[in-house]
Amino acid sequence: MLVNNEIGVIQPLSAIAELTHRHGALLHTDATQAAGRITIDVATLGVDLLTLSSHKMYGPQGVGCLYVREEIKPRLRAMITGGGQEYGLRSGTLPLPLIAGFGKACEIAAAETLADHQRIKALTRVLWEGLKELFPSMRLHGHPEKRIAGNLNVAFPGYSGEEIIALLRDQMAMATGSACSSSGTEPSHVIVALGFPPDEALQAIRISLGRFTTDREIEQVLELFPRTIGSGMFH
Ligand SMILES: *Cc1c(COP(=O)(O)O)cnc(C)c1O
Repeated sequence: MLVNNEIGVIQPLSAIAELTHRHGALLHTDATQAAGRITIDVATLGVDLLTLSSHKMYGPQGVGCLYVREEIKPRLRAMITGGGQEYGLRSGTLPLPLIAGFGKACEIAAAETLADHQRIKALTRVLWEGLKELFPSMRLHGHPEKRIAGNLNVAFPGYSGEEIIALLRDQMAMATGSACSSSGTEPSHVIVALGFPPDEALQAIRISLGRFTTDREIEQVLELFPRTIGSGMFH
């Protein structure tokens, strides 16, 4: 992954690419969380293959793309065969409306990423600092700087992520781990991999800010947290 989906940390892909190439391996990166948030340059990253998902960058659901470095094209084999569409790599009729929508989302991302980044970064800082003042024991998961703006993966020691999400459920959307597997009962493998024991990993909650998050919403969250969770709950 270029950017981790749970903690928003930007991975050192070009160093990893160098390592894999030195050992004769190709490198594919899932850049789904990076698109529209940081600038992606396949040449700088040195990756051979890269995938994106449209709906994570405000495009329609149901479409994504695969970048393949020119030189390795002959080495790929189709998993879906038939009519031979998409250079024979993925047969099937192309979903034209989705592709057009995805293209438009990319165009907007190319124009807006920098401005989005600065605005979201500032908002994230307001939220982080505001929460930290209210709950000094709150901790951040993942690297404090090498992360995308808009991801706050935090923990309130003593309380599970599920508890906090349940208390705020009607007013605010948050997640414990990845959206695909947030059962809440299993600790996130990402947080465990950071070195936290399972009971502490279960405290993780992920708050995401995006292009449409407003100053007012951040103010509301900062009012909501102490009011709903209650001052007695944290020390
Ligand atoms: C959401 C996500 C996916 C899955 O993409 P879908 O198009 O929703 O299936 C894969 N990788 C990462 C990093 C994601 O965030």
